Amino acid sequence: MNFIDEENINSLINDKSLHDEKHQWEIIVKAKEAKGVSLKEAAALLNITSQEILEEMFSAAKEIKEKIYGNRLVIFAPLYLTNLCVNNCLYCAFRVDNKELERKSLTVDDAEAEARALVQQGQKRLLLVCGEHPKKSSTKFIGEVIERIYSINEDGNNIRRINVNMAPLSVEGFRELKSFDIGTYQIFQETYHYDTYKIMHPSGPKSDYDWRVTAIERALEAGIDDVGIGSLFGLAEYKFETLALLSHAFHLENKFGVGPHTISVPRLEPALNAPAALQPPHAVDDLSFKKIIAVLRLAVPYTGIILSTRERAELRRELFAVGVSQISAGSKTAPGSYKESRESANEAKFEQFQLGDHRSLDEIVKDCCDLGYLPSFCTACYRSNRTGDRFMALAKTGDIGKICVPNALTTFHEYLVDYAGEQTRITGQEFLKEQLAKESDTVRNKTENLIHRIDEGERDIYF
Ligand code: SF4
Repeated sequence: MNFIDEENINSLINDKSLHDEKHQWEIIVKAKEAKGVSLKEAAALLNITSQEILEEMFSAAKEIKEKIYGNRLVIFAPLYLTNLCVNNCLYCAFRVDNKELERKSLTVDDAEAEARALVQQGQKRLLLVCGEHPKKSSTKFIGEVIERIYSINEDGNNIRRINVNMAPLSVEGFRELKSFDIGTYQIFQETYHYDTYKIMHPSGPKSDYDWRVTAIERALEAGIDDVGIGSLFGLAEYKFETLALLSHAFHLENKFGVGPHTISVPRLEPALNAPAALQPPHAVDDLSFKKIIAVLRLAVPYTGIILSTRERAELRRELFAVGVSQISAGSKTAPGSYKESRESANEAKFEQFQLGDHRSLDEIVKDCCDLGYLPSFCTACYRSNRTGDRFMALAKTGDIGKICVPNALTTFHEYLVDYAGEQTRITGQEFLKEQLAKESDTVRNKTENLIHRIDEGERDIYF
């Protein structure tokens, strides 16, 4: 597709003038205004090798993130519906040729049981994930699952936003998906590098590069406002992948007036009998991975960056500081795992890939507080119709913070009251007090009013 201009990306990667340190420094200074950087400037930032300039870029990424999102980290969990798949992606344990995987598909009742298990942990936001299969992950089935999950109500606690990661649809198909009241539609190109894509996807509908790379446009045409893109780092060279991701984001912004709501940065992890995951063709080391996230934060300051539990806990802590705004917590990547709690050796026979962070939601919530990040379970924007360009307009004027802070603190308080373990509750309540003390009188009063209503027994209240 011409919006992924491989020739241009390669010429930027090979442009010697983009190694100039003075120029790299100037780009970082400019980026601090939170107005983004061009593709060419992003290429220069990816070339940084000086420790001093790298540190300056990491600190700029942190500053930009805090300016736009404050210290909030939005929390969600994936819910896998099936590991049956007609595709054959060489990096995925779900691929059709993998005879070592135990196959399992959830019914609507099973999906409800999984969602209830997540509600009982304190989750409010889910990402439905499934392999591509005409029956086990059809749009109609996903609609039935979503309706059932939204109907769960446990003393006012419920799943309040369901995002969906599924195979590309036609515009008509996306209209049907939108009618189920989904939050974000997310799809990763995996690799934007055409030749690598062809090798990694030898058969099945996913082998069609163009159909996949244009999926987001069809989703937007169908009226889905919030869309998420991503690359699976480790398949192709990381500078290429980062610049291609940004090309995609810029293209969407130019064509539709609003870029992606989120960018995900999954990195290859070992997966059962998946050759490309066991030996990544272009493995990305931790420092380069940190650089990728920082460059994305500088380039598209208003786009959420999602970091999953693929990464181990200590690295996640470090990466939160360079611009991550959403994280998964307490995740499982096999259908039925939340309810069944399989032994880890048994779990490996069902899951899509191995996780790096095995901590529970409660442990992660406490850790976030210890590190100075506010865990947010807020879903208010989506439910108040502040999506797409309406969300971006608020974000760009800085007004979103006045709404987000009370909502984040209130949903955090709800979590502490209903689900937190004792240590997390003690740490969290102290942290919440400190956060409130930092706010203006107006924001503090608004928040205290909501918190009081939670203490009186109300749930699911927001601005
Ligand atoms: S990555 Fe997705 S499409 Fe590919 S085999 Fe795995 S589940 Fe199927």
